[in-house]
Amino acid sequence: MTEPDPGQPGTDHLDGNMLAGPLAEVFAVDVTTATGRCASCGRTGPVAGLRVYARAPGVVARCPACEAVILRLVRTPTSAWLDLRGATFLRVPMPAEPLMMPGPTSPAM
Ligand SMILES: [Zn+2]
Repeated sequence: MTEPDPGQPGTDHLDGNMLAGPLAEVFAVDVTTATGRCASCGRTGPVAGLRVYARAPGVVARCPACEAVILRLVRTPTSAWLDLRGATFLRVPMPAEPLMMPGPTSPAM
């Protein structure tokens, strides 16, 4: 290895595979307890308060204030397509950080 070249990509970041652990934790929770902000009008409220239309080819959730689409979810036989572009953020309540366990991270079961 030579010294890192600041002009070379890949020296200061990890690839998306490292998101598997953190995102598995996030997406394992009940998302209806999350709070989201509408990217259109700025309203912040619980996901459970969105207006959901399930008669479309997928599920569409709209802002109760401005009717903008917050979330779209389409399930195909082999994939789930989640479009959250209508949300500025989604804040998911999480349990406190787990206690530190001795040794390296336990292997996945
Ligand atoms: Zn809105």
